[in-house]
Amino acid sequence: MDKANRTPIIAGNWKMNLGRAEAKALIEELRPLVENALCGVALCVPFTDLDTAVAAASGTNLIVGAQNCHWAASGAFTGEISASMLTEIGTSLCIVGHSERRQYFGETDETVNRRLHAVLDAGMLCIVCVGETLAERESGQTFDVIRRQVTGALKDVTVQEMRRIVFAYEPVWAIGTGKTATAAEAQEVCAFLRTLVRGIYGRTVAQFVRIQYGGSMNAKNAAELLAQPDIDGGLIGGASLKAKDFAEIVAAASR
Ligand code: PEP
Repeated sequence: MDKANRTPIIAGNWKMNLGRAEAKALIEELRPLVENALCGVALCVPFTDLDTAVAAASGTNLIVGAQNCHWAASGAFTGEISASMLTEIGTSLCIVGHSERRQYFGETDETVNRRLHAVLDAGMLCIVCVGETLAERESGQTFDVIRRQVTGALKDVTVQEMRRIVFAYEPVWAIGTGKTATAAEAQEVCAFLRTLVRGIYGRTVAQFVRIQYGGSMNAKNAAELLAQPDIDGGLIGGASLKAKDFAEIVAAASR
């Protein structure tokens, strides 16, 4: 469905890596390598790097994002960060529902939905992560899991808000494992996800919504994955920590 009308977006997920000095150095190295990118380029950095990253990315094409935020505006939520705290320091994107948060921090479809609303209400772009575990894939549940996660995340999200949502299909078994989904496997699920969006919001929204693939994407496999008709970019973990590797993926998305 009209891939040519969607601008791909490559987003780095630094996870819990890089202190402020390393963050500044990486962004300074990356800036000239991606300045002519024909796709969106985002860096989702640890909370403590956000102000450094915003300053280092100022005046460039780099979008600075966070990896999570709380759903409440403020209050007794020790250790949490609100969406308005993120926007106050210049953050314009936030990931929700990453599988590491679902796996280690009790994230559910309901809390993903609540966080998504907080991100949207704060005016940010949101990357919503979905994906099945290896056990779920092997027992034939992939599509059921994706359906449940997508419909759960999108509860009470308006058509207008869909403009600021990007999905990341990230099979859990491919994240940080070096085991990438084949291009055909990734395409199959991304196409299914688009069909789900069409079922809820109609054809126009399904045509513009961007769907990334994530899971051990690197400079070698990016071009084939990004050439798939329903894959509009990538969410990159490990390979986003090296400027040259990340820039090669950006270059693949720009072709
Ligand atoms: C991720 O963290 O979202 C991810 C896809 O990691 P990696 O690229 O390291 O598999």
